[in-house]
Amino acid sequence: MTAAAESTLTLDRRFARELAELAVPWQAEEAPAPELLVFNEALAADLGLDPAYLRSPEGVRLLVGNHVPDGATPVAQAYAGHQFGGYSPLLGDGRALLLGEVTDRRGRIRDIHLKGSGRTPFARAGDGRAVVGPMLREYLVSEAMHALGIPTTRSLAVVATGRQVRREGMLPGAVLTRVAGSHLRVGSFQYARATENFGLLRRLADHAIARHYPDAAEAENPYLELFRSVVSAQASLVARWMLVGFVHGVMNTDNMTISGETIDYGPCAFMDAFNPGAVFSSIDVSGRYAYANQPVLAEWNLARLAEAMLPLIDEDQEKAVTPAVEALGAFRGQYSAAWSGGMRAKLGIADAAAGDEAASAVVDGAIAILKDGPVDYTLFFRNLGKAARGDVRPVRGMVLDLAAFDSWVAQWQALGPDQELMDSVNPAYIPRNHLVEEALAAATGGDLDLVNRLLEAVTEPFTERPGLERYAEGAPEDFGSYMTFCGT
Ligand code: AMP
Ligand code: MG
Repeated sequence: MTAAAESTLTLDRRFARELAELAVPWQAEEAPAPELLVFNEALAADLGLDPAYLRSPEGVRLLVGNHVPDGATPVAQAYAGHQFGGYSPLLGDGRALLLGEVTDRRGRIRDIHLKGSGRTPFARAGDGRAVVGPMLREYLVSEAMHALGIPTTRSLAVVATGRQVRREGMLPGAVLTRVAGSHLRVGSFQYARATENFGLLRRLADHAIARHYPDAAEAENPYLELFRSVVSAQASLVARWMLVGFVHGVMNTDNMTISGETIDYGPCAFMDAFNPGAVFSSIDVSGRYAYANQPVLAEWNLARLAEAMLPLIDEDQEKAVTPAVEALGAFRGQYSAAWSGGMRAKLGIADAAAGDEAASAVVDGAIAILKDGPVDYTLFFRNLGKAARGDVRPVRGMVLDLAAFDSWVAQWQALGPDQELMDSVNPAYIPRNHLVEEALAAATGGDLDLVNRLLEAVTEPFTERPGLERYAEGAPEDFGSYMTFCGT
């Protein structure tokens, strides 16, 4: 390692400094034989980090938390959270560490965070570890989401630790190095509120404003404005999930960010056939976080955030409730506008005026066809783009009720759909469940070729490329009903 390489990495400790009550200084567990499995060269460059250094033995030790640059203070973050509706007053990073912050090439502050770096004081019964499959899964899905233009935490690297971890059997351990605008969660505010330390709650809100919504500082009531900003960011985020068919799977308040980034990819999945009730997580037995419930549950989580923020909104709690409820009330309209606008873009009719009845009827008709199903959600829109170019066969071949479809297509075509717009918003490649599973199984056995190939497809999702045909196809018929497990 050269001094020059080292000097490219300075980690700030802004969170640890400003919010010490939420930060427990901690060290990562020693990885016996760290080996870099995947590395995000482009992201490293965006962060102003030296890729060659991060690939070096010391750089890889840094990526698992075993080499701590001078001046850095890794911390486990404290937070609370409603998990499946039940409140846990103390969750926190049980197996994760915030290494510190960097300023990226665009001048933005970014957290560098580890997942799977060993037990912390918040570990409860957990072993503090993570395994190769689920960490590569987060890497693949988060990078796919980013490429789809959806706000998300990013993945810088997955490093195998060289340690076997007990799950159902023994599996190879790994650490994910994650990058985020911040790791502030709804649960961070719940935790701060529960301490009854008003100064802490206010510092947390000020920190969130400075990092994510600096304009709120100028508002008449900056904290109310912060809440409004989070409501808007989440309304837009969840609309984007819905538009690509993404099911987060575990939308607990500790897994919802203040920044509006998607976070904590666990039992998530993209649905294949359109199904409002789609649930993939084995632990979501009641279907609380089913596809169609996501906007409702996001709003529920935001109500929990409002409760935590009430003392900031007005000293008089009675007086705080009305503006908080009003601010939360904006969620539905913002969500609907974001979803409708996005759906019109998917159908190539974004130019239609908001109140245009013909356009609304075409959107409703498309949803009716999907519901009539089973129709692969992603392929339906991609093939519809081909119909806009004159070849209606691929999409027509997907539906059962041809008469209904033909009359809908005529209505749609009368609006002059924009083919290019459609191809720029309807992905050809998403991390489909069968593709993710085959790639992770191979990687767990030591072969990363399929992970790399899938990454190649999903990180450029809108441009169909020769050689990637099987990545654009729907799930094989024998794939059956897919389940994801929280054994992350
Ligand atoms: P998640 O469902 O991944 O968002 O995690 C919920 C909570 O469980 C967080 O507080 C995690 O830090 C904690 N957790 C999950 N897995 C482990 C583990 N293997 N060891 C310790 N804590 C864990
Ligand atoms: Mg979590």
